[in-house]
Formats: sequence, structure tokens, C-alpha cells
Amino acid sequence: MAQKFEKKEITKKSKNFSRWYTDVILKAELADYSPVKGCMVIRPYGFALWENIKSALDGMIKSAGVENAYFPLFIPESFLKKEKEHVKGFSPELAVVTIGGGERLKEKLIIRPTSETVMYSMFAKWIESWRDLPLLINQWCNIVRWEKRTYLFLRTTEFLWQEGHTCHATHVEAKKEAGRALKMYAKFYQDHLAIPGFMGKKSEAEKFPGAADTFAYEMLMPDGKVLQGCTSHDLGQNFAKPFKIQFQNKKGKLENVWQTCWGLSTRSIGALIMAHGDDNGLVLPPKVTPIKAVIVPVLGKNNRDVLAFAKKVQNEIEKKDSEFSGRVEIWDSPQQTFGWKANEAEIRGIPLAIPVGIKEVKDKKVTISRRDGNGKKNESSSLNNVGETVERMLGKMQKSLLREGEKFLRENTHEVKNYQEFKKVMREKRGVIRTFWCEDPKCEAKIKEETKATSRLLPLDAKEEKGKCIYCGKKTVHRWLFAQAY
Ligand SMILES: [Zn+2]
Repeated sequence: MAQKFEKKEITKKSKNFSRWYTDVILKAELADYSPVKGCMVIRPYGFALWENIKSALDGMIKSAGVENAYFPLFIPESFLKKEKEHVKGFSPELAVVTIGGGERLKEKLIIRPTSETVMYSMFAKWIESWRDLPLLINQWCNIVRWEKRTYLFLRTTEFLWQEGHTCHATHVEAKKEAGRALKMYAKFYQDHLAIPGFMGKKSEAEKFPGAADTFAYEMLMPDGKVLQGCTSHDLGQNFAKPFKIQFQNKKGKLENVWQTCWGLSTRSIGALIMAHGDDNGLVLPPKVTPIKAVIVPVLGKNNRDVLAFAKKVQNEIEKKDSEFSGRVEIWDSPQQTFGWKANEAEIRGIPLAIPVGIKEVKDKKVTISRRDGNGKKNESSSLNNVGETVERMLGKMQKSLLREGEKFLRENTHEVKNYQEFKKVMREKRGVIRTFWCEDPKCEAKIKEETKATSRLLPLDAKEEKGKCIYCGKKTVHRWLFAQAY
């Protein structure tokens, strides 16, 4: 490995948000641009983060009785055409294989932009009676949707995700499952990634192609735009009919199944970076960080004592049962300076850093610094208690990141009285606007044209109220959330 003494420079978050975002990803070595335009390479540190996200979410998916499976990357073109809205929605972004093994294929193969059609052709084969229901399947895989403009983690031609697909005997059950998946994602974002957000239903214009209803979890980013963190769809019988996914009910009659699908992707890493990072780099929530604490020895005359003490600190932390999965590392390489290592730990967003020098060895005490605290949340601990202190500090940090996010979301969610005010908010500070909308797509299109904001969600907990559409003045009953979106 080349010597690395040079301090890595990162554009300030407040100065240029999108440059900062890219700088952090490249310098924290989460990902890199690839030789294939539109695609990215996820580097080991970024992939370790994805593996932690995946493992936590996979546990939640399995505990709901959903089983993992794997379906082919290729989809026959005719499958995709079976559901009209679906093919219409996806055709601009499809990658198509026309030649295989040196020969022109009789039927073109589509590289999956999502797996509904290939899965549902199999579900039709597997489901015969009510006894086969519910069918609950999830797949972790890669997806290809052709993109012209790339934004690392947020918009790339190929990305990784999980897609859950379920079949039910009744619409009530399917709706319940779509709701369960949405709440699971919200809980995952809040408990693990420490990002608050809104749960709700999408407008007609923002709906998934082929869904009866689409639900999403949306989070406000520091630049005032919102990011859709996942989706959950009630598919009704829109796919069951063309794919003939039928079951014999208890009375012996054939019926179409009711379906849902739901997904979360590597985009969640983009959310994580934007929501918590600062001028010095990443800030990773303890629940998903690949490294929870780094011990940095101050090397000098008494290296042996210092390194032995560093090892003791590591052992003390590692022997404590922990709800945080990350590793505890000692960065003892003599090739880099202490300052470089401290800087690197910051850029990589490692929650806790523990410098160890001869003073610490003598006192049998360490000072632990918290990545999110600007030095104000540091704590000292004796060697004997270091395991407990670390665990407690990680717990506090996890909670504090969510609390900070909640405060930001509260302060940047606005109720506006009229369209003038709406425009002013979008022009000057952005954020989320909660306001009455008549649900007419024409009003939504005009609002988008004039303010760049679109309807994001009808919140799940929205009450019926009397109001007038912010754009056309027509009487309506619901306040929707509007924002500019990623
Ligand atoms: Zn209107």
C-alpha cells in the first residue's frame, strides 16, 4: 500500500452540498466511479456497511415469515408486456439482450428492472389452492434501470436491493401486508439508520407502474429536498389477472390472488451519508457501522507498552456483549502519522475514537471521543470499565442522531396559508410543506412546474379536515406533503 500522509480535503457541507456528498463517498472509500458509465463500484468499506444494513433488514423480513429465494436476471420481453402500465412505466429505462451465444435470440431478454413478471409466472405455477396462501417471498439482488445522469448511491444504472413479493387470498390481507412492510421500513430507518421521516400514500402521478396503491417512507435531507427511502405497493389483482395467478377457494371456486411488493435499495446508504455526515466526513450510526471504535496508539519511545495497553482496551471492549455489530480496530501501522489516522477515522465516520499514549498507560484510563460531538461528548473511562462506557456511548449516539434528525424535520416542515407562501418557502428554504390539495393531477403538475415541488405523500395519520386546494381553491379534505425530491 502506498504511503498516505496527506490529509484528505473535503468540500464543506454548507458550501457545496453535492460536491461534499461526492467527496465524502470517494474519500471515505465507500464507492468509486466505474469504467461503465452510470454504474458504480461499491468498495469494501461501503459494502461492509451494506452488509450490516442487509443483515438487520433481512432479520426483520424473516421474522415476518417471508422466505428468501432467487429468480433469473433475464426476463422474456413478452412477460414484461403482460401488464400494460408496468411495461409503459419501465420501457424508457430497460437494458435489452438481443444476442446470446453469438446468435440472435428469438425473443429478446430484458435485464430485470424489477422482478414482478418473472416471479409471478412462477407463482402461477406454484399456487393451486387456498392452502398455498399466503405466499411470502423476498429476493436480494441487483437491478438495472438505465440512467443518463449518475449520482453515487442515489441514482445509478445498476443498484442492489431487496424485493419482497407476496400473494394473499383477500384484498384485506394484502393491504395489511403492504402496511406491515411500510412500517417495517420506517422502523428500520429510525432504529438502525437513525433517520426520521414520513409514512404515507403516493398520488396517482407518483404511483408505481401497475400498482393499485403505492406507499413510501420519505426523509428530509439537509439541503431541503426529500428522499424516498423505500416503497411498498398494494398491487390489487393487476398482475394476478394477466399472469393467471389463481387459487381454489374453500368453496372450490377459482379466484385471482391479491398481491403486494416492497423494496429497499443501496439508496438507503445515500440517505445515511446525507442525513448524518458533516464537514469532516461521514458520521455512521453505531447500529450499522462496520467499525464501532478505533484505538489509535500514539507511537514513540514506549511502543511496546502502548501497543500492549491498546490490545487490553480492545479486549475489554470486545468481551462485552454488544447490541452494536461493528468491529473494534487498532490502527497501529507505523507508516501513517497519528494525525492522519485521526483524520481518517473522522472521514470514515467511525463512532468512537480512543487515542492511547504513554499517559493512558500510566493512568490506566482512556478518553473516548464521539464522532458526532465536536469534542463535547467525550467521556473518560478506566480500563476496567471501558467495555461498558463504549456500549453506553454508542447507545447515546444512536439515540442522539435520531433526535437531531427529528428536530431538523420538525423545524423544516411548514404549514402554509396560500400559494404565495408556498412559492416563497420553496424558493427560499425548501423543506416539507403540509397543505390542502384537491388530488387533481393538473394542479400537481402546475405546482411542480412553478415550484419544482411534487406531492410526496398523504401521511398515514392524516385526518379529514375541511380545506381548499392550495392551487385551484376547490374544496378538499386532506392535507398532503409537498417537497422537492431527489
Ligand atoms: Zn386543485
